[in-house]
Amino acid sequence: MAAENHDRAFRKGAMTDQRELKISCVVPVYNEAPVIETLVNRISEVMRKTGDRYEVIFVDDGSQDKTWDTLKRITASSEHIRAIRFTRNFGKESAIQAGLQAVRGKAAIIMDADLQHPPDLLPEMISLWGKNGYEVVEGVKTTRQKESLINKLGSVVFYTALRRVSGFDLRKDTDFKLLDRKVIDAYLSLNERGRFFRTLIPYLGFRTARIPFSPDERESGNPGFSFFKRFDLAVTAITSFSSLPLHVVTLLGVFTFLFSFLLGLHTIYVKLSGRAVEGFTTVILIVLFIGSILMIALGIIGEYIARIFEEVKHRPVFVVAETVDPK
Ligand code: UDP
Ligand code: MG
Repeated sequence: MAAENHDRAFRKGAMTDQRELKISCVVPVYNEAPVIETLVNRISEVMRKTGDRYEVIFVDDGSQDKTWDTLKRITASSEHIRAIRFTRNFGKESAIQAGLQAVRGKAAIIMDADLQHPPDLLPEMISLWGKNGYEVVEGVKTTRQKESLINKLGSVVFYTALRRVSGFDLRKDTDFKLLDRKVIDAYLSLNERGRFFRTLIPYLGFRTARIPFSPDERESGNPGFSFFKRFDLAVTAITSFSSLPLHVVTLLGVFTFLFSFLLGLHTIYVKLSGRAVEGFTTVILIVLFIGSILMIALGIIGEYIARIFEEVKHRPVFVVAETVDPK
């Protein structure tokens, strides 16, 4: 049924406008009601200049504010806008996934709703893809946006760890990317559920151009990511990329074994030489030391088991409540 609607809307669009649909902007939105209209106006302004036929696919990731009402109103008045609403908040990764599945253009441009990814860059991205043959065109941050100390610290640790395990330096990378149809298909053919868009695109390895930009302050509304959401995403990114932390567990084991071997030799020597083994403090310290190493090891293994559990359940990464297409 939904597919029929798509087709009908598409044919109707094709009758009024003979050009083929070239660009699909994919915009995940979570409680972004105040900025949506400005964003749509900015996009349509720049796209009118490029002259390419385009659509904007909004994916409402379970917003609690007026986001969906706004989207419905806009879709009713514009032939370029489509919207998908999730039943609840599934996270930005899921929203990107749903948006990419819905793309009908020859290329998709993923961008944030809060205008931190400037629509003014679209023509340059499109021309690098269309004229210069790049399959991925990504926006890279020249400056980091203002963030709290804990987030800043968190991202330093995260990006360093990620660089170690994946070999990709993503400190300046953003989700603001243009993807050719080939890249979209490759991305959608990946089987995993726990995804981190930003690492998977370089992983796919297509020819990539980079455009530097400096993100403006958030237009309005609130950042949708809490520290815990970020932490969870960071763990997903690293565990889905590498089993290095598991090898670290093995190394920790070897290290503690060597340590206990040496300590054991010392203890036997002290015992044989007729002195009493030193007091209780040593025992407590050793128990605490071994205990914490065991806990860390279990925790790391647990993270992987949790990911395996998530994957084998094979649950869908989002559930769509409704879709609206242009009239
Ligand atoms: N977002 C989403 N689901 C969420 C959180 C955020 O779809 O659970 C969207 C949000 O509406 C915005 C984009 O993801 O379009 C980036 O979010 P935000 O600006 O909060 O992140 P930051 O700029 O801090 O990376
Ligand atoms: Mg933002």
